[in-house]
Amino acid sequence: MTAQNRPTAAAILADLAALRAADLPVHGGRTLAYVYDSGLGAEAAALAEAAYAAMAGVNGLDMTAFPSVVALENEVVGTAARLLGGSAETVGTVTSGGTESVLLAVLTAREHARATRGVTAPQMVLPATAHAAFHKAAHLFGLEAVAVPVDGRTFTPDPAAVAAAVGERTALVVASAPSYAHGVVDPVAGIAAAAAERGVLCHVDACIGGWLLPYARRLPDTAGIPDFDLSVPGVTSLSVDLHKYAYTPKGASVLLFRDAELRRHGYFACAAWPGYPVVNATLQGTKSAGPFAAAWAVLRHIGDAGYEDLARRTVRTARELRAGVDAIPGLRVLGDPAGSLLAVASGDPELDVFVLADCLRAHGWYVQPQPGYAGLPRTVHLTVTAAADGKAPELLAALSAAAAQARALGPALVDPGLVEAAALIDPASLTAADSAALLDLAGLGADGALPDRMAPVLALLEQLPTALAERLLPDVIGGLFRPNPK
Ligand SMILES: *Cc1c(COP(=O)(O)O)cnc(C)c1O
Repeated sequence: MTAQNRPTAAAILADLAALRAADLPVHGGRTLAYVYDSGLGAEAAALAEAAYAAMAGVNGLDMTAFPSVVALENEVVGTAARLLGGSAETVGTVTSGGTESVLLAVLTAREHARATRGVTAPQMVLPATAHAAFHKAAHLFGLEAVAVPVDGRTFTPDPAAVAAAVGERTALVVASAPSYAHGVVDPVAGIAAAAAERGVLCHVDACIGGWLLPYARRLPDTAGIPDFDLSVPGVTSLSVDLHKYAYTPKGASVLLFRDAELRRHGYFACAAWPGYPVVNATLQGTKSAGPFAAAWAVLRHIGDAGYEDLARRTVRTARELRAGVDAIPGLRVLGDPAGSLLAVASGDPELDVFVLADCLRAHGWYVQPQPGYAGLPRTVHLTVTAAADGKAPELLAALSAAAAQARALGPALVDPGLVEAAALIDPASLTAADSAALLDLAGLGADGALPDRMAPVLALLEQLPTALAERLLPDVIGGLFRPNPK
């Protein structure tokens, strides 16, 4: 391209804005999944962006070349450790997000079990409600995931059942505080005690709750939130995402460890090549300091009193929504959510929550469909953030209207013949052509576009054998990502 026909910076940014127009909004509290808005407005956002930009080119790969990254991390980890029951021994690592924190926690446990107990075929015991990131870790790092069922009313596991699943090969036991899907806190003390009794590590996944629950517990009427942090005996590591309820830009999470001796098992060192000596604390090599700097700045800007106030507004709004949802005929909130996450199910066969989610989207609100699994009912998920403060009446009115529309439309129907045929398919021998034909039948045509109404697709997905669904999903997404050079 010659200099003459190169687009101007303004034109490029205008193109970017045009692409963004199709996205869900990331501010304003109407997108009830994926995004976290403090509602604090322009000043906080500008600070985060400036800190991000100032450090975007700094490479955390080499801490000796860029000591600023070490200083930033030490302050952020120190703040997290103080908030989450750490001791003088507590250490940590800043990662790119919850998935990376979980992956590193599992990798560290695998290496620790091999080094200290000679475990060569490691297992990980986890509640059925644990985040999918643990299954990803099991897949990537060669552990066997041993799932413990949860109670159909509390959506948490019985610590005795967790204890019974722990064996010689167990490298790690997992608890959620809270679980993503239902927002309930597992009985961490009982689970951690069961792990400690067998000399096994216990990770608390507080990715979503870690920056909210400590503040929520300071409020009146939150006595029901159980102890969950590093102060609980037997808890050896904990993950907390800053890009969730610490309201920092995407790309920041903290993984805390009981002590440095445990953490070192997850570090990777390599002196077996002719380049620079490698020591990686995370899975990344080159690592932008932008997200870390933005997180550091936002933590300082909002501060302890600020987070307490945001938690108060968030929990108040979530409670208002919970009561309001329970008052809508046919709908109910599952379990006893601890803070800010609601799983809404339907008790009326004519009212399908997947259809409800589609209808609600037309009203300008996004809630996240969650297919039923292992006997747990299908739900829609609401992540409530401080930006939703004051918006509960509007959302409840929209939910009520959408519920009436969904009931009138009736549930998304799945062709029983298709489900029957799918049950006979061997996912391992499915060809690309078979997959394309199946997706076509499912309404996911080869043009790569996703349908406006997702309810029929989700309803079918829920009915497919897990292995077949996991074979087809990559083809759906693969269809979206096709090179389009400019
Ligand atoms: C969000 C989340 C994760 C994964 O975090 P990402 O930042 O999305 O990678 C893990 N566990 C829980 C409970 C979560 O809510």
